[in-house]
Amino acid sequence: MPESADAPLQSALHFIQVSLSMDYAFTPAPVATLPVIAGKPFPIRRIFCVGRNYADHAREMGSDPLREAPFFFMKPADAILSGSSMLPYPPATANLHHEVEMVVALGRGGANIPLAQATDCIFGYAVGLDMTRRDMQGIAKAKSQPWDMSKGFDHSAPISAITPRPASGLIARGRIELKVNGEVRQVGDLSDMIWSIPEVIHQLSQLVELQAGDLIFTGTPAGVGPVVRGDQLEATVAGLEPLLITVV
Ligand code: MN
Repeated sequence: MPESADAPLQSALHFIQVSLSMDYAFTPAPVATLPVIAGKPFPIRRIFCVGRNYADHAREMGSDPLREAPFFFMKPADAILSGSSMLPYPPATANLHHEVEMVVALGRGGANIPLAQATDCIFGYAVGLDMTRRDMQGIAKAKSQPWDMSKGFDHSAPISAITPRPASGLIARGRIELKVNGEVRQVGDLSDMIWSIPEVIHQLSQLVELQAGDLIFTGTPAGVGPVVRGDQLEATVAGLEPLLITVV
């Protein structure tokens, strides 16, 4: 009975052939990744961002920092601009702003993650720029329209290489800074966050089931402002890889 004896093998071979030649309408885009210091690339699933997480920035944007629960918005995974490179000035804006932020990379996720277990999700840390079409965002706010096109455009998420947690330890404080053409524009301390990183993970996991590969921009300190073509941006968080970006 050779046919039935070979059936499982035939079935396995068929599965492998189908998998190798998966029948998409066109070739899928490669998975967006970030480099990891002394490690394999980090595959990006989603990019979440916290709005107004430093009191001084909330005030400069005209809000009362003490009364607002954290709120979230997103950028597409392929909005990543990996490592130090050129940032093309985007279309449809005359007021492109920098927002330097600590970025947390998740190595595991979950829904309704208890606060005490939130740090278990942290794979590592990086420094990022939440680039923003501020003029477009102002119009969206005034008209109660979504922020997506003011926040989630192409190349809107430059991020440094990830420092994995075994190398960094858990980070709750430290200087965060942005220089433009050598001049300090934004400076703060991570301990100034209104909502700590564990609190952000805990709260966000009550809205969506977090997954390995998710990134979270954790908010920006005061001093946001415009950049123009030719500007050189140096974003740093103490102990992490710096991010060097030239606007072109
Ligand atoms: Mn931001």
